[in-house]
Amino acid sequence: MQTLVLATSNKGKLAELSDLLAPLQFTVQPQSAFAIDDAVEDGLSFIENAILKARHASRLSGLPALADDSGLAVDALGGAPGIYSARYAGAHGNDLANLTKLLADLSQVPSGQRQAQFHCVLAFVRHADDPVPLIAHGIWRGQIAFEPQGSHGFGYDPVFLPDDAQGTAAELTPGEKKQLSHRAKALKLLLSQLQAGA
Ligand code: IMP
Repeated sequence: MQTLVLATSNKGKLAELSDLLAPLQFTVQPQSAFAIDDAVEDGLSFIENAILKARHASRLSGLPALADDSGLAVDALGGAPGIYSARYAGAHGNDLANLTKLLADLSQVPSGQRQAQFHCVLAFVRHADDPVPLIAHGIWRGQIAFEPQGSHGFGYDPVFLPDDAQGTAAELTPGEKKQLSHRAKALKLLLSQLQAGA
């Protein structure tokens, strides 16, 4: 079986991606298994950041790599926090601070005007200089709640009310989120490209 490096240190993403990739013909290893730190994310789009993360992990491991760049785009905030979702409140990866800032920023926005989407862009590179990375984009639509609910998932899940579920994303079981999420949709699209021999 071929080894695939997952180019992320985010524990929530690692758990979801490892689970989603379990039925495949790859042995999946996180980049931490190769002592690889996070790449500098200085792209201006999910696509650019996903590609640079995948190249970084592939270059340092010598293996094919899969990266996920994802985030939340809120209509009333002009698409913010977008590519800055992980560091919306300043420190990188402070989920509670990020969702607290989001709720404060939306405190004057009434129900019915709180639409948002989770985006996930996956980039797969066969080697570090791969000239044709495979790209897949999944979107999950919903609304932003007025207060956090639920304890599953990660990031903004406690304040995201998917249009296709009851309650917040953090109230879904991992198995339920796996059926619906932006990450699951992107992975399904990526797999169909891989299976088609791309
Ligand atoms: P990245 O590491 O730059 O891709 O940051 C992604 C950030 O977007 C995470 O740290 C979360 O704040 C947010 N995010 C992405 N996917 C999800 C999800 O499935 N649930 C909740 N938050 C997410």
